[in-house]
Amino acid sequence: MLTIAYTIDRDKDYLSELDRKTGDGDHGITMSLGWRAIKETMHDLPEEADCGTLCKTAGMKFLNAVGSSVGPLYATAFMRAGAAVNGKKFLTESDLLSFWTAFVNGIVERGQAVVGDKTMVDVWAPALDSLREHYALGNDVHACFRAAVSAGQAGMIATADMVSRKGRSSRLGDRSLSHQDPGAASAYLILSVFADMLETLN
Ligand code: ADP
Ligand code: MG
Ligand code: MG
Repeated sequence: MLTIAYTIDRDKDYLSELDRKTGDGDHGITMSLGWRAIKETMHDLPEEADCGTLCKTAGMKFLNAVGSSVGPLYATAFMRAGAAVNGKKFLTESDLLSFWTAFVNGIVERGQAVVGDKTMVDVWAPALDSLREHYALGNDVHACFRAAVSAGQAGMIATADMVSRKGRSSRLGDRSLSHQDPGAASAYLILSVFADMLETLN
């Protein structure tokens, strides 16, 4: 979580630049404010806090810190993911799958976007599908996450060829073409940093 917060902050200008092409140019700012709030949560929570408490607190802090479309989307993701790992201090490989399933389903249910709408869902949905598929095959957890990252990256790139049908950029119609969606770009950062950090554990 701390490394994601660091990465989002590092890349905030790039994310806002993408949002200037199709939206109001604030995506890097909103995401970095939200993730800074999450970072503070991590420091404030007692050592013995479980993953569920941590995620639910992170979700509420994110919502309070962010005044844009992504606020309720990631807040819901964290609340749902937190409920999926409630009471657990350590997550097994199968807990990780439950976590990400709840996280992504939270975004989809809250925002009602489908693949092809040119949103973060174009990253999260194929990434989750790929993750579930590779888990079902019994693949090594690192391989499962690498596959999910590849699927998410393909989805992010594909948003450049989509006309926006959700959020602020949908007002642009065809003018949203040939620009990647900023929310898809930040979703890819979150997922790829998570997978990289997982690689560093055993
Ligand atoms: P705002 O549009 O309020 O300024 P941001 O710039 O922070 O919000 O975030 C914009 C991103 O939010 C978009 O690039 C898109 O990926 C995502 N988004 C917007 N609406 C939805 C939705 N209904 N479902 C999923 N993602 C969405
Ligand atoms: Mg914006
Ligand atoms: Mg805005």
